[in-house]
Order: sequence, then structure tokens, then C-alpha cells
Amino acid sequence: MWGLPSRPTGTPVRCSCCRKAIAVQVDNVLVPAVRQLTALGAVPMKRVGWFCSRACVGAYEFRFRVILEPEPFASVEARLSGGKPS
Ligand SMILES: [Zn+2]
Repeated sequence: MWGLPSRPTGTPVRCSCCRKAIAVQVDNVLVPAVRQLTALGAVPMKRVGWFCSRACVGAYEFRFRVILEPEPFASVEARLSGGKPS
């Protein structure tokens, strides 16, 4: 199971399929970090965002009849730093 970090502030990042909170975005970084998240089984997909697992990617693709593409780390990190000006 996922444990949320104990940081008090930040925006929850949820699985695009089951809406489970998998991380918290604090300023321009994710907690846990992108690479840690993926090591835990979470998957970033182009245009859609994060999924908690491959199983949720499959469920989403089946439900919406789409084929998702994985999003590279560099792209995820660029989106994080560009998406929330302070
Ligand atoms: Zn999920």
C-alpha cells in the first residue's frame, strides 16, 4: 500500500484511474521523487498523468478505449517545473 509523505503542504497527485493519492507536489517537485515513484510501480503517461500501477493503466485504456504512451522522466520533470510558476 501507498503511504503519503508527512509533508503538511502540497497538492496531492492522484492516479488517473482509481484516484488514489500516490504523491504530493510541493512547489516544483514530487514527494516521493519521480524516480522513486516509478520504482514503487507508479507510471507517468503522456497527456493523462500518473497512474498508481500498470494495472490501472490497463484499466484506463480498456475503459476509454485508448492506447496510452509512457511519458519520459525528462518530460515529467519539465512539466513539473513549468506548470506552477511561483
Ligand atoms: Zn490506480
